[in-house]
Amino acid sequence: MPTCRDMTELSTEYLERSLGWRAWLGVRWHLVLCAACRAYYDQLAKTLRLLRGRPLGGIDAAMEARLLAARSTDEGSTP
Ligand SMILES: [Zn+2]
Repeated sequence: MPTCRDMTELSTEYLERSLGWRAWLGVRWHLVLCAACRAYYDQLAKTLRLLRGRPLGGIDAAMEARLLAARSTDEGSTP
């Protein structure tokens, strides 16, 4: 099982689902047993969600607008 110090690194990988099943299980088990790491993990999960949610949403909206603009010009040029 990982130590509390390992958990700071492993939590990110756990969230990104880049861990093997053994490491994943170790992290999962540590989170069940350790309230401090659970609190840390919750905080990290919230932060990552915020960091990823905003820029991705912005890119998607801009991309959608561009795609819509491109489609309308295509329609205009077809005879
Ligand atoms: Zn811990």
